[in-house]
Amino acid sequence: MAYEIRLWPDKILKQKMKEVDFFGTEKLKDYVDTMFSRMYELEGVGLAANQIGIPYQIIVIDTSVREEENEGIEEGVKIALVNPKIVHKEGQIESTEGCLSFPGVQITIPRAKRVVVKAKDIEGNDIELDAEDFLAVVLQHEIDHINGIPFIKYLSPVKKKMVLEKYMKKRKELAKAGGQ
Ligand SMILES: [Zn+2]
Repeated sequence: MAYEIRLWPDKILKQKMKEVDFFGTEKLKDYVDTMFSRMYELEGVGLAANQIGIPYQIIVIDTSVREEENEGIEEGVKIALVNPKIVHKEGQIESTEGCLSFPGVQITIPRAKRVVVKAKDIEGNDIELDAEDFLAVVLQHEIDHINGIPFIKYLSPVKKKMVLEKYMKKRKELAKAGGQ
């Protein structure tokens, strides 16, 4: 089905996505609109294009979705970033994260506390974002996705094996029960 959420270990989640070079087109606008609506349906705070099978470097974020994690931020940030790159990382925090492509998995991993991201908007204008804490974490998580990097990468090998075994077992049980 079109734009279904891709679950690990789907191949597209392990690949680096293509850069967008079709700025200002209906095609790009449609991709971004679709990504926002899928993200809201799935109740995520961020979504990377490959998570719904779109093979380009696009991410969408809306941090107002998750109110309690938003303390300290005046208002949520809603943004679509095309070809985003982290150009600066600073500090370290422990981040507890879930991922729409790993249902049921929640892990705590190290992330940079502050990131500076350069990207384009859908018209091709330059965007620079300087973010801390929750927004910085969401940016790192989603930008990793379009580079083919899952969040479990930051676990120790032993912990990663444990988390994956549990996740795959649960997926098989769900498949047997007629789910995904
Ligand atoms: Zn994710």
